[in-house]
Amino acid sequence: MKDDLNLVPFVSVENMMRLVLSRGIEDCMAEIAEYIEEDFRRWPLFDKTPRVASHSSEGVIELMPTSDGIDYGFKYVNGHPKNMREGLQTVTAFGLLASVETGYPVLLSEMTVLTALRTAATSAVATKYLARKGASTLALIGNGAQSEFQALALRKICGIGSVRFYDVDPQATRKAMRNLENSGLNLVACASPEEAIEGADVVTTCTADKQYATILTDNMVGAGLHINAIGGDCPGKTELHRDILLRSDIYVEYPPQTRIEGDIQQLDADHPVKELWQVLTGEIAGRVDDRAITLFDGVGFAIEDFSALRWLRDALKTSERYVNLDMIADPDDPRDLFGMVQREKQRM
Ligand code: NAD
Repeated sequence: MKDDLNLVPFVSVENMMRLVLSRGIEDCMAEIAEYIEEDFRRWPLFDKTPRVASHSSEGVIELMPTSDGIDYGFKYVNGHPKNMREGLQTVTAFGLLASVETGYPVLLSEMTVLTALRTAATSAVATKYLARKGASTLALIGNGAQSEFQALALRKICGIGSVRFYDVDPQATRKAMRNLENSGLNLVACASPEEAIEGADVVTTCTADKQYATILTDNMVGAGLHINAIGGDCPGKTELHRDILLRSDIYVEYPPQTRIEGDIQQLDADHPVKELWQVLTGEIAGRVDDRAITLFDGVGFAIEDFSALRWLRDALKTSERYVNLDMIADPDDPRDLFGMVQREKQRM
């Protein structure tokens, strides 16, 4: 990537897909997971705030900012469960990285694909630290846009070998299994969530419904299970029965955001939860024994997007998969913005 302060590298969806394909999807998620781990280990130095959400009856539009004092990043993301029925994505996103020193943007990117990669990488980080050793079977409930990424990241990073699929819409399961048929994973389609969870060591729920849904009930969750609940990520939008939460050791990203958006919105505001980053730094223990139920109540936090953008900036050092955008008005004399506009007339 060339350094020109006035031009901002932009990664389009097409360039993102080609970049990811040329490096390997699973390798990209493993690399992003390393960036996430690195940033989680320096968690206290980040500016943190719950994301700024604009809710409507159909969905939500959110801004997710953070900074480590050197770089500043934000993501724009929506969540519209009804979109899928209209042929639109439930989640779309784009994001930006900027220099704290100058305030100038240094990278703009599509983040719909990048969000799927980083969400799967985050689930894999949680699973790596919280699931039982030797976990090999994943139940994947909700087989939409995020699902294949979740399966592949858990295979690459956590050694998952078998995936048991369930979705209310069998077409979604067929799509996910078709996409993964040459992945080397052992794939099993299931007719109910109860069947999917049979024999699973890890469950990822990634369903989309704007309501208090009950994807898992208490009787389905046996000792030793690790759950990544990533689809409950908005007020009034949850996936787990409350009784599961009461039996689980709960790990979250940023409690002030998760208490508003996560499955734990069903609990009292002072119900004890642990912060995942502290497991990575060793400040607190992860799984205590093989019988514990661990729950990662993942809602997606700004630092994960910041990590993904840092990964992308580094990946572009050896790739041409971007175009430069003329986004910054930067006259030679910084005070002569008006003159710069006038001089353009001679070039028209
Ligand atoms: P999607 O609309 O593409 O897929 C959702 C799937 O869930 C669909 O196939 C749908 O049929 C299925 N589903 C709905 N209700 C179900 C039920 N009761 N049981 C089983 N399956 C059911 O959505 P997506 O992009 O894959 O996102 C999935 C969820 O993850 C959304 O709620 C989204 O907001 C959330 N998400 C979270 C994060 C995070 O960081 N935590 C990041 C991205 C997306």
